[in-house]
Parts: sequence; structure tokens; C-alpha cells
Amino acid sequence: MLETFVKYGAPEEILYDAKPHIGTDRLTGVIGNIRRAIEEKGGEVRFQTRLSRIIIESSHVRGIETEHNGVIDQIETDDLILAIGHSARDTFYQLYSQGVPMQAKEFAVGFRVEHPQDFISRAQYGDQAAAVLPPAPYRLSMNGERRHVYSFCMCPGGYVVNASSEQGLLAVNGMSDYARDSANANSAIVVSVGEGEYDLNDPLGAIKYQRSLEKRAYDLCDGLIPQQLFADFVSDKESSCYGDFESLTKGGHKLTNLRGIFSPDIENAFIEGMNYFDKRIKGFARPDAILSGVESRTSSPVRIPRDSSFQSSIRGLYPCGEGAGYAGGITSAAMDGVRVAESFEMRASL
Ligand SMILES: Cc1cc2nc3c(=O)[nH]c(=O)nc-3n(C[C@H](O)[C@H](O)[C@H](O)COP(=O)(O)OP(=O)(O)OC[C@H]3O[C@@H](n4cnc5c(N)ncnc54)[C@H](O)[C@@H]3O)c2cc1C
Repeated sequence: MLETFVKYGAPEEILYDAKPHIGTDRLTGVIGNIRRAIEEKGGEVRFQTRLSRIIIESSHVRGIETEHNGVIDQIETDDLILAIGHSARDTFYQLYSQGVPMQAKEFAVGFRVEHPQDFISRAQYGDQAAAVLPPAPYRLSMNGERRHVYSFCMCPGGYVVNASSEQGLLAVNGMSDYARDSANANSAIVVSVGEGEYDLNDPLGAIKYQRSLEKRAYDLCDGLIPQQLFADFVSDKESSCYGDFESLTKGGHKLTNLRGIFSPDIENAFIEGMNYFDKRIKGFARPDAILSGVESRTSSPVRIPRDSSFQSSIRGLYPCGEGAGYAGGITSAAMDGVRVAESFEMRASL
């Protein structure tokens, strides 16, 4: 995968770096190059075109229906690789209504947490080395009695991003440019959720839970990213100004009180995790660490089961990548795509 990324324009150091980093600004060019290579081989990309329905006969894919600017089209096919990502909620609902088997999954929720990058680099490397080394990353994890708390998608020199995908709902994520040259480090600090929060027997239960969190986050500041300083979160007090540093976001933001988005149990696990991480990185739980809500897309809320041939019990349907629940992150989603394509190719050649 890494070689493929480099072939299409990613920086060469990802081939030997232990934590490969492409950067959002360079990744967009890489994706364009991959698309052009697919087109040169005869593939076709239909932008702004939605898979609106799968045509299924006798539990076998027979085609798909697409929608573009209100125009419905049909494509006949016996095979469909379904790689829709983890946020295609309308499509999950559509597939479920058509009888495609799926299961709710456990995942994790929390806040994006910002610190000054210089502070993180000094804590990780020491003052002297921090002056010459690239911005430091970190990875933190705590296995609590009931819940796992961990850092996710850590972005050195990055930005908090408004990554919402539905009207009236709000979700955040993080990104770094190739240079990782912003003044802040950020990561999601997330708490594992599952049966206690939603019904795992309801295949759409985790999606409903995600939506309820994202609605609360949206309503807090009328669609702006709601933020709070860590000390104020602990004392359940609305934040009124930043501390020693300001937030760096893509999208508007506003200080508020984030209490009440999650249950008290999750809030307590989050605070416990932050204090535990403070023992690993001194000052991690500093009072002016900035929290942004909500992180609700750490992995897919559903799994679309598949057998050893990578097919659903709807034959010809190949659930693939992060949305199908078999990957988390760019590289593992890409590797899952390769696995599905290889298995598909092998069967086609028989
Ligand atoms: C801001 C941000 C930062 C991230 N940073 C990182 C990072 O640093 N490292 C990392 O490893 N991961 C990161 N991720 C996660 C990463 O983007 C995903 O893990 C990865 O893209 C999953 O790949 P995928 O191909 O399974 O799904 P996706 O990349 O989500 O692709 C799914 C595609 O299917 C399309 N689609 C959905 N439904 C339909 C339909 N009905 N009809 C037609 N098309 C449809 C979607 O529009 C989308 O283009 C980040 C995500 C975000 C949002």
C-alpha cells in the first residue's frame, strides 16, 4: 500500500518511517493521480452519483440503481464491491431495508483534545532534542475496569476539523498538513462504548446513538464546534476564555459547557483517562487543554458480515473497507480493498 501511495505522489519517507505521514494537502493530489490511473485502465468515476438501491433477486446481486441530479440510472452486474465508508448512514438504512444482513458494532466516542505542539514535543523529547526534531506524536491507552480509554488519530502540528456529514448534526476529526507546521497538537481521546449505550441487537442501534450525540453537539453552539477547557469540564463550568494557547480549527468554534453530551459514566472515564495520561506525558491534563466535541466516528458503527470468499449472504455483494466494519484508517481500508479485489479476481479467473 505504501509503495502504491509513493508511486502516485506520496512522500518517499513513508516507506521507512515507523509512523507514515502523507498529509491532507498531499493526499488529495495522490488520490487524483490514482483516479486518473484507474481511468487510463478503462475504469470510470461518476461524481455526485449515489448508489440508491441494489437490485437483488433470489439473494443474489443483479444490478444497482444510481441517482445523479434526480436522474435514476440502472447498471446490470452480478458483483458489487461495497466500499461506502463509515458515515454513509442513508445507505446503511437503505441496505438494511433491503434485507442486507448487518450488525451493530462497538466503537468509541469522546473529544478531540488540543495542546501546544511545543509542549508535547518537549515532554516527549526533552528541551534540547525538541528544538531540532520534527513535531512529536504520542499514543496513549488505559484499560479501565469497565472501559478502554485511548488516543486516536493523533495529529502533530494539526487542526481540529468540523467533519459533519448530516444537517443539524456535528462531528469533529483532526488533520495535519504534510509539514505538520501548525502550533497545536491534537488527538481524539475516546472511551469505548457498546451494549450500555445502545442495543447491540438492533443493527442500526449504534448509528442512532451516534446521531443523538452529534445532535447534542450541534445544538450546543448552533452548529459551531463546541469547546471547553479541561479544568472547566472537570468542574462542570462553562468556559469563557482560552488559557495559554488558542484553538486551531477548520470551521467556526465557540466556548461552552460540554457536559451532558455523554453519560456521566463516559464523562468520568474520559476524566480518568486524561489524568492517567498525565502520568505518561506530564501536563497532559493541564487545565487549559482544549476539548472539542464530539468524536463519534472512530470506526464504523455497523459490520456487514461476509464469509471467507468476502461475500455477504447476498451473493455477489462484497462489503469492503471501513464502512463494512473490517478496517479502521486509510492503510487498513486500502489493504482490505486489495484483499477483496484479489479474492474477486481469483474467482473470476476460475
Ligand atoms: C478529517 C479526517 C482525518 C482523517 N485522518 C486520518 C489519518 O490521519 N489516518 C488514517 O489512517 N485515517 C484517517 N482518517 C480516516 C480515513 O479517512 C478512513 O479510515 C478511510 O478513508 C476509510 O476508507 P474507505 O475507503 O473504507 O471509506 P471512505 O474513504 O470513507 O470512502 C467511502 C466513499 O464512498 C462514498 N459513498 C458512500 N455512500 C455512497 C453511495 N450510496 N453511493 C455512492 N458513493 C457512496 C463516500 O462518498 C466516499 O467517497 C481521517 C478521516 C477524516 C474525516
